[in-house]
Amino acid sequence: MAKKQFKAESKRLLDLMIHSIYTHKEIFLRELISNSSDAIDKLYYRALMENNTGFSREDFTITIELNKENRTLKISDNGIGMTKDELEQNLGTIAKSGSLAFKKDNEPKDEIDIIGQFGVGFYSAFMVSEKVSVISKAFGETVAYCWESTGADGYSIAECEKESNGTDIILTIKQNTEEEHYDEFLEPYRIKELIKRYSDYIRYPIHMMMEKHRLKEGSENEYEDYMELETLNSMVPIWKKNKSELKEEDYHTFYKEKFHDFINPAKVIHTSVEGVSTYNALLFIPEKAPFNYYTKDYEKGLQLYSSGVLIMEKCADLLPDYFSFVRGLVDSQDLSLNISREMLQHDRQLKAIASRLEKKIKSELQAMMNTEREKYDAFFESFGLQLKYGLYEGFGANKDTLKDLVLFYSSSEKKMVTLSEYVSRCKTEQKYIYYACGDTIERIDKLPQIELLKDKGYEVLYLTADIDEFALQVLHDFDDKEFKSVSSGDLELEESKEEKEAAQKQTEENKDLLDFMKETLGDKVSEVRLSQRLKTHPVCLTSGGDLSLEMEKVINALPNEQKIKADRVLEINAKHPILEALKESFSVDKEKAKTYTELLYSQALLIEGFTLEDPVAFSNAICSLIV
Ligand code: ADP
Ligand code: MG
Repeated sequence: MAKKQFKAESKRLLDLMIHSIYTHKEIFLRELISNSSDAIDKLYYRALMENNTGFSREDFTITIELNKENRTLKISDNGIGMTKDELEQNLGTIAKSGSLAFKKDNEPKDEIDIIGQFGVGFYSAFMVSEKVSVISKAFGETVAYCWESTGADGYSIAECEKESNGTDIILTIKQNTEEEHYDEFLEPYRIKELIKRYSDYIRYPIHMMMEKHRLKEGSENEYEDYMELETLNSMVPIWKKNKSELKEEDYHTFYKEKFHDFINPAKVIHTSVEGVSTYNALLFIPEKAPFNYYTKDYEKGLQLYSSGVLIMEKCADLLPDYFSFVRGLVDSQDLSLNISREMLQHDRQLKAIASRLEKKIKSELQAMMNTEREKYDAFFESFGLQLKYGLYEGFGANKDTLKDLVLFYSSSEKKMVTLSEYVSRCKTEQKYIYYACGDTIERIDKLPQIELLKDKGYEVLYLTADIDEFALQVLHDFDDKEFKSVSSGDLELEESKEEKEAAQKQTEENKDLLDFMKETLGDKVSEVRLSQRLKTHPVCLTSGGDLSLEMEKVINALPNEQKIKADRVLEINAKHPILEALKESFSVDKEKAKTYTELLYSQALLIEGFTLEDPVAFSNAICSLIV
């Protein structure tokens, strides 16, 4: 019988399929099962339209048969079937229904990616088969036809025998090669696994004979093998069920199984939306960050289903980076099965879904914060850093989404608080939200700069993460109150006019000493000044410009060539006896005054958490004062 040639573009696609280097050849099964399910849908729908009561949903099945000896895998359905013309049209050409939408001038590399990620329907069978036979009888017809092809050399169609309507797809599985083990597609357990993975929620039962073990009747220790028809798919996805049908435990079990977590999620979000875009989503906020969460190995994304069929394992476009911890899935009937990653990125539906999900996640987190604060605190411990990175990223583009969700440690409450909680406790005159940076809460608590603020009853936020100060700088203000570091120049605490004048005068009186100290330290500091903000501590180091000392540390810890330096200001406590000692030595022993100055600067560095350039000189200087 004469072979017919595939249409040009089909031939090209077929070549790609056959020579695809893609590793996920297994998706052929998903494609064929989906086609069977579509064919049953069509018949069921037609029966409904024609008021044909001869059918009920229970009559429909998809059956898989494996034959290792013949190396065949057969997928049968009792759906609508295909006429001779349809076989020719649908399998001899790439169907219009959108299997393939790539442009002719695409680079070969992209083409492989398209196939790799999504498969292109029926043709994907050729990735694993040396021969594909399709035996089909259209509903209402008397004659069946067999379509057969071994690939690029074309196909043949001939009349054949088939009892009832529907389609059998018979794949003759390729021989193993060095790189590829096609044998796996003849193993019942492997097939079962693939069905579970990709086609679990197909609405019709997928049957296969499975070998089982059982105790021999009347025996206590003798077993026998027997065959049993098993339904491989669970058919109704949990996310399509009514919320009222489901218990919390159901969600938790599903989450742990599906996303391989040991502990229950902190929050379950189950939502279904109808309208411009229609979808079901089932999202989980884990309680603990996976071990690789803060590394580049972690891949964000939600599973994407099109009417119950998995089309993408991790769809990154559905989640913004700052919510990358969310696990879960989206199922939408608006998406087509054979959509490429590239097309997906520009998909309006998908964008609309992503934006609604983002709002939903935010409102659920907000609700958790308001009603289950302890839980929220634990969540924040795991993922707060990510939210703060989100604030910083894009120069604050997402601040409206995130500013209400971030927590910082409060000096007065001794726990994590929100920015609005801080503001609600502000003194009436208070212009700023004060913060201090350091490695740990304990260390910050001991910073000299903090003492006076705490004394005067100001609340201070303690920032311990590298990103914190950057995030606040991007945020700039909250409720019209600007952020201010306790280490910055002027804290603008309430001071009386007299206090201000006295301070001014004291500075003038000590001008020579301060100049001398600045000269001694050279360009290590930009200024040495008297300070009214210190209480019991002799000195502290603050930053003059916009770049804080803490930011300097963070930036310089990055693997950059260029190191930066913040403006350092050495502040001397104007009320501390150390000032008298400095004055004294300045007038009688300039060498000693130099040593004091250098020691005080070193101390200030240590308090701020810097390392000394020359620790030996430091300890020698101390020694010189002792002996
Ligand atoms: P798509 O499913 O996107 O249309 P496919 O390449 O998977 O593309 O299938 C091409 C066409 O072949 C289908 O649209 C359908 O008309 C027909 N077809 C494939 N498998 C079957 C089947 N089991 N029963 C009936 N028709 C089928
Ligand atoms: Mg298909």
